[in-house]
Amino acid sequence: MDRDGTRSGCDRKQAWPAAGYGAAPIGHSVPGLSDEEYMALALFEAERAAHVGEVPVGAIVVVGGAVVGRGQNRPIASADPTAHAEIVALREACRSIGNYRLVGAELFVTVEPCLMCVGALLQARMTRVVYGCPDPKGGFLGTLGDFSRDSRLNHAFAVRGGVCGDAAATLLREFFRSRR
Ligand SMILES: [Zn+2]
Repeated sequence: MDRDGTRSGCDRKQAWPAAGYGAAPIGHSVPGLSDEEYMALALFEAERAAHVGEVPVGAIVVVGGAVVGRGQNRPIASADPTAHAEIVALREACRSIGNYRLVGAELFVTVEPCLMCVGALLQARMTRVVYGCPDPKGGFLGTLGDFSRDSRLNHAFAVRGGVCGDAAATLLREFFRSRR
């Protein structure tokens, strides 16, 4: 049953049945998955963040159909304000590939990236970023600003927002409600 009740692709069990389901296996290429199916894997990472008391945001990095990086938001556990899901996923992807540039890579993240993460995505030379729900208090891929295609900068990447956005927003809402 889908959390958002509409897009079946947002169900991770359909997205990656081979995994059983756990996290996306690193380096296991399954070309041809939809944006919603990849986002389902990022939603799984977000759920794992919530289980340890972190704000539920998850991300994965995909190159050529293979997941090469996974990230859960974990600034509290890491005592690190830069430990956003996107940064954690970028670090694993760069280690997997052995390169500080991720040319041709796509990042799927459940919530619109912040200013810091957009900066890191530009540094990584990301090709495309797909996000779930907008972040009215911090999103910098359209909400508070947009540096994905700023002609003053030396890199640009494509953006698609709103993929499984209801599922991502529901995770956040349930998390903050449970802590009130
Ligand atoms: Zn961020």
